[in-house]
Amino acid sequence: MSPYELMAEHHPGELAPNRRRWHVVRRGRVTGLCGLLLSPVGETGPLVAWADLAQSGRCLACWRAYRGRATAA
Ligand SMILES: [Zn+2]
Repeated sequence: MSPYELMAEHHPGELAPNRRRWHVVRRGRVTGLCGLLLSPVGETGPLVAWADLAQSGRCLACWRAYRGRATAA
């Protein structure tokens, strides 16, 4: 199982789930790999769901950081 998962960035008043931006977080943490502090009650999802996300819904900084760690490990 991946030690990482996806976590949604919430914007106050936002209603459409597909407009959210998703970050990669280390399981159990609330800070994205990009350094952004996310809501501890934010929605999470499996990392494999990243492939199904629209380009605009991905945090590229998180993705680059994740790829970097994955290849270094
Ligand atoms: Zn991020």
